[in-house]
Amino acid sequence: MPELREIYQEVILDHNKNPRNRRCPPEANRIAVGHNPLCGDKITLYLLVEDGVIRDVGYEGSGCAISTASASMMSEAVKGKTVEEAEALFCRFHALMMACPQGAENGRRVELGKLRAFAGVREFPIRVKCATLAWHTLEAALKNSGETVSTETGSE
Ligand code: ZN
Repeated sequence: MPELREIYQEVILDHNKNPRNRRCPPEANRIAVGHNPLCGDKITLYLLVEDGVIRDVGYEGSGCAISTASASMMSEAVKGKTVEEAEALFCRFHALMMACPQGAENGRRVELGKLRAFAGVREFPIRVKCATLAWHTLEAALKNSGETVSTETGSE
C-alpha cells in the first residue's frame, strides 16, 4: 500500500517508535479518557494544570501508529503552554485535519510546527479520527468534564 506510506512521515514514525511522555505524572490533577472504536485506539490522558499553565502531560493507552504518534506529539506540543495556547493549538490542529478555515483563524496565534506532518492523514478519513483522538481527549481534560471521549459521539 504505497499511499499509506506517505502518511507515515518520518516524524510520525519516530514518535510511534519512541513515544514521548508515556507515563502517569504522579501530580496530575486532570484526567480524561478517549476511545476511537473504529480503530480500537484508547488513551488515558493526565495533565498537571497550575495557574492556567500545563506544567506536565502524560498518557497511557494503546492504539495504532497514528494515534500513538499523535498522542506523543500532542504531549510535547502542549507541555509548558497555557491552557489558552493549548486550546488554540487544538483549533489549529483540528483545522489542519478537517481543512477548516474557521479553526485556523481561531488558532492563528499559535504555530503548528511539526504537527503539520499529519496533513497527509487528511487523505484517509478513517485515520483522521486516530490523529484527533488525543486532541479531543486533551480538550476534555482541560474542561475537566470527566466523561469518556469517543470519536463516535458526533462531537467532531
Ligand atoms: Zn487508530
